[in-house]
Amino acid sequence: MSKRYTITAALPYTNGPIHIGHLAGVYVPADIYSRYLRLTGNDVAFICGSDEHGVPITIKAKKEGVTPQDIVDKYHAIIKQSFEDFGISFDNYSRTSAKIHHDTASEFFKTLYDKNEFVEEVSEQLYDEEANQFLADRFVIGTCPKCGYEEAYGDQCENCGTSHNATDLINPKSAITGNTPTLKETKHWFLPLNKHEEFLREWILKGHKKDWKPNVYGQVKSWIDDGLRPRAVTRDLDWGIPVPVEGGEGKVLYVWFDAPIGYISATKEWAERVGKNWEDYWKDEDTKLVHFIGKDNIVFHCIIFPSMLKAEGSYILPDNVPANEFLNLEGNKLSTSKNWAVWLPEYLEDFPNQQDVLRYALTANAPETKDNDFTWKDFQARNNNELVAIFGNFINRVAVLTNKYYNGEIPQPAEFKAIDEETLAAVKAYPAVIASSIERYRFREGSQELMNLARLGNKYLADEEPWKTIKTDEERTKTVMFVALQIASALAVLSEPFLPFTSSKLKSILNHAELDSELTWEDISTKDVLLPAGHSIQSGKPELLFSKIEDETIQKQLDKLEASKKANEAANKKVEPQKEEITFDDFTKLDLRVGTILEAEKMPKTKKLLVLKVDTGIDTRTIVSGIAESFSPEDVIGKRVTVLVNLAPRKLRGVESQGMILMTQDESGNLVFVNPNIEGVANGLKIS
Ligand SMILES: [Zn+2]
Repeated sequence: MSKRYTITAALPYTNGPIHIGHLAGVYVPADIYSRYLRLTGNDVAFICGSDEHGVPITIKAKKEGVTPQDIVDKYHAIIKQSFEDFGISFDNYSRTSAKIHHDTASEFFKTLYDKNEFVEEVSEQLYDEEANQFLADRFVIGTCPKCGYEEAYGDQCENCGTSHNATDLINPKSAITGNTPTLKETKHWFLPLNKHEEFLREWILKGHKKDWKPNVYGQVKSWIDDGLRPRAVTRDLDWGIPVPVEGGEGKVLYVWFDAPIGYISATKEWAERVGKNWEDYWKDEDTKLVHFIGKDNIVFHCIIFPSMLKAEGSYILPDNVPANEFLNLEGNKLSTSKNWAVWLPEYLEDFPNQQDVLRYALTANAPETKDNDFTWKDFQARNNNELVAIFGNFINRVAVLTNKYYNGEIPQPAEFKAIDEETLAAVKAYPAVIASSIERYRFREGSQELMNLARLGNKYLADEEPWKTIKTDEERTKTVMFVALQIASALAVLSEPFLPFTSSKLKSILNHAELDSELTWEDISTKDVLLPAGHSIQSGKPELLFSKIEDETIQKQLDKLEASKKANEAANKKVEPQKEEITFDDFTKLDLRVGTILEAEKMPKTKKLLVLKVDTGIDTRTIVSGIAESFSPEDVIGKRVTVLVNLAPRKLRGVESQGMILMTQDESGNLVFVNPNIEGVANGLKIS
């Protein structure tokens, strides 16, 4: 039975590109769901857009010396492109800086205002006297009142996920000047969430106990049980949607208030474009609204946005909010600021045309019930052991043999044996099995069932061995190839939600376009014949669906991450405090000279030490230096160096070292020479 669906995916925040965590947590599952629903004949509006307001964008703009609009224009384009590249099949990808969104959000605010759904309050907000501005959420950093994390933002603690008001922070500091802010009066409008508590209890805690995911339900319950408080919907800022009522000058809508309304404005924009009525998708009780989000967004989509919709009065509420947990990368939390991520544009550069491999690896290992870890080894194994060895291998054999034996034409089968009947019956069961997984938001399970269908095909061919029977029993071979081609055809259709690029290639290989009618999801279980005898598949050598990923390729990715880690460690390295003051006379006691390394060799039986012969201008002397882990002897011969020549000689492993070469570290923590590498500076010159 066909139905109308409004499917939303969390609006990505436009202050950077998106990475695999976003894809795994939100966009791939939402896309699988949407594609499946379209394939099964439903009316789907799959909606998303860029979230372009809020303080972090203004902070980034300030840092880069550009306007906030420059920032959002840049990342909107990058993010939109990534979604297209990875086949995320949005019906509309809009942006919250669009006029239609400003109008829609403004109107929404006015409706609630006119219905007296807000509480007006003059309150004391944190104010930075030096910067001369109010400090809302992200401009304040302090200690989380719940978990004690010291770098919590004013609106939310990234450590424990709790959201709070900036004034709740212990030890608040301005992110602009570092000063301790003062409190200053300002008027704002608040959404009294406490007023909606009863409705939320009834609707979620009683109504969705069974069908919402336990991680979502649990978080919502703990929120409600903690007691809900009014939440400011406006703020003092100049980037965003102006507050459209009297007294709103200099204030904008809070980004969390305008962003979810972005789903509505993006639907409107789409409906206008394709000639539909947007209200059918937001106000008709028969429409099913589903929000795909990550777990950090649960409170906004399960408590705040529904309270807004309920207060407005004419909207439907979400039927489900299948939030995912977080994806980690190689054991560490994904982090934009630490560059601990696999960025989608970079992935595509390194793995061109392999979008489905990433989609598959992320789905097969999706953080559906708990945080999960993405590792490059697992990615490689999913590709090599499943996509290549099972799915790809099966399709390649079928296509190659059909071309070789029958010139690409599907043969007329002879009598079916029990194994053939059983296999065909098993194929027919897959649409329902996979559908059940998808409809319950168990996309990992669904992806594994799809792989099981490929496994079934692979095993059938391996057991029936048409490459052997072709020499002994032509009729049997025809039957086996006929059955195998039916399985391949089922895979072409059922893989579409998970592996859209592969599905499309496979349909070309099998020439699905030449069939009387396009095969639907339902056809796989109802039709006895998917590819009829006499139908021709693409001639020639079939395109390989997947190719093996070698260890070197994976190692390159691991090296990249290792470099990020080193850079972070170097950046986070605490600068040592200044030492005790010395007099000029103290300084002049140091005799620093320019020198050149003439010879170098490793100190036997040590890892760290090099024995150097250095021309100091005064003499040629032996200096033992602990740099062997960073430099080989060949690296350093001929280097100009800075030498402390009057350091008292000391013996290292029996060799007397007469001085010290000055070293420091680069940003990755590697040793480097303090280097007087300037033309015409002679050995022996004093450094003072
Ligand atoms: Zn916390």
